[in-house]
Formats: sequence, C-alpha cells, structure tokens
Amino acid sequence: MTLYSHSRLQSFEQCKYKYKLKYLNKIPPPIKKSVESHLGECVHDALEWFYQKVINGKVPELDELIEKYSSSWSEKDDEKMLIVKNLPKQDYFNKGVKFLIDYYIKNKPFNDGTLETEKKIWINLEKDFPHKVIGYIDRLVYNKKEDLYEIHDYKTANALPAKIKFEKDRQLALYSIAIKELYGNEKPITLIWHYLNHNMRITSTRTNDELEKLKKEIINLINKIEKTKEFPPNKSILCDWCEYKPYCKIWGNSIPKEFLQKQTKLDFDEKTMKEEFPTTSKYIVD
Ligand code: SF4
Repeated sequence: MTLYSHSRLQSFEQCKYKYKLKYLNKIPPPIKKSVESHLGECVHDALEWFYQKVINGKVPELDELIEKYSSSWSEKDDEKMLIVKNLPKQDYFNKGVKFLIDYYIKNKPFNDGTLETEKKIWINLEKDFPHKVIGYIDRLVYNKKEDLYEIHDYKTANALPAKIKFEKDRQLALYSIAIKELYGNEKPITLIWHYLNHNMRITSTRTNDELEKLKKEIINLINKIEKTKEFPPNKSILCDWCEYKPYCKIWGNSIPKEFLQKQTKLDFDEKTMKEEFPTTSKYIVD
C-alpha cells in the first residue's frame, strides 16, 4: 500500500525525477524551503490559530492575528531560505501582514460556521483499491443557512488562475469525496479558494457524477505511477523553486554519495505526510 496526497500526485506530473528523489528515495532536500512557502506556511499557521479560537467562542482582534503570524515567521525563519526573486525577505513578511489585514476586514465577524481547521481526511477511491489518498482541509464549514458544507483553501501565490482551472481543480474536489462519505452524498459542497494576494474568494461545485469520474482518473494515475520505471527530469520554470535543484542532473549537479547508497523504496509514513503539509508546491506557483 502506498499513501498518496494531492501534492505527491502533482509532483509526479510536474517532474518524475523530483518525485523519485522525494517520495521513493526519500532523500532529504538540500533546500529546506523557499520564502514563498515560508510565507504560505506562516499565513496558514495564523489562520489556523485564529479559527481555533473562533471555534472555542472567542474572536481574536486583528492585532492578535498579526502577532501570531509574526511569531510564526520568526520561529520558522531559516537563514538558508531560498529567495529566487531579488526582493528582501521583509517584503514577503509585509505581504503576509497585508493578506491577513484584508482577509480580516473582508470576513469579519467570522460566524460562518467553522467546524474544523487542518482537518485530516482519507479519500476512498474504490473498494479493495490497495492505495490510499490522504489530505488536510484548511477549513471546513457547515453553512447552516444554505444547509451545505464548504471546503476552504487559502492561497498566497501571486497569480490568479483562469476560471477554468477552478472548474477542473483536483485537490478540493478530492477532499469533497471524503466529506461526502462523512456527511452524506446528498449534501451539496461548495469549494472555496481565498486568493489572499487579490483579496478574492472564488467558488466552485462538483456533481456526484463528476466526483465519480475524478475517482477513476485518480485510480488510473496511481496505477500509472505504480508501474513507472523511468523517472526523467523535466526542466521547467518551476526548477528555480525546486528544493532538489542542487542534486539535479539536468542542471549539471549530482546526488551526494551518502544518499546513493540508501536509495530504496519505503512506505510513506504518516509523520512524513504531516511534515509535507504545507508543501512548497502548494505555495510557490506564481
Ligand atoms: S530541478 Fe527541475 S528537473 Fe530537476 S528535479 Fe527539480 S523540477 Fe525536476
């Protein structure tokens, strides 16, 4: 049994070589994170902390939210962080502050019915299918007025994708399969993306037929991954943010000897999965 996630599937589709180093050989990345992923992680931390307070009946002040973001930024700061664009780190920190101020003003008084944050879910694709898919929902809401569930996701990337991307988005649609299993197939689910850099909220829905089709697509993709023997690199614009670039052969680099000896396929344990969220790929696409 192999444990898959949206980012694992995405990684295979983006670059098979990176997929092999990260998920099959489990080589620790020479670059721990990019400044964009650090920004995304700290914004997520702050909003998770904030909504946990809301669930417990207290709405923190805006200052407290920014304080939480700031302390998360300092605690998780890393001198070796990758900064691709020629901008000071402080600019990225400031961006996060602006995201949270805009979000706070737009969404108060925060009584939309938050049930859970960072909700861990298992997605069952088919009875007896040997592989599992796991995910974490940023925020799950029960919208009492409309009697439906909402899956919320925060995005800190600069670019706002075209509308068609949201209609085809796989990640939140996958998560809705698990929520339907938990709360019933007849309950509608709205998928909501918060594009913080644009102060925009984008919504989409999926029919049960579309979700069934998606399950089949994911099963086919996983079967293809399981059968794959060749993992060639795929040079692209994303290489500049790749945490394995210093080990990548397409850039004239190589994997250090100590890792070459230990390249064996291992099961993907849950701790590694948890550490994987949030991932670089989730935040950096620009
Ligand atoms: S640097 Fe580019 S080609 Fe190399 S592993 Fe990373 S994404 Fe793949």
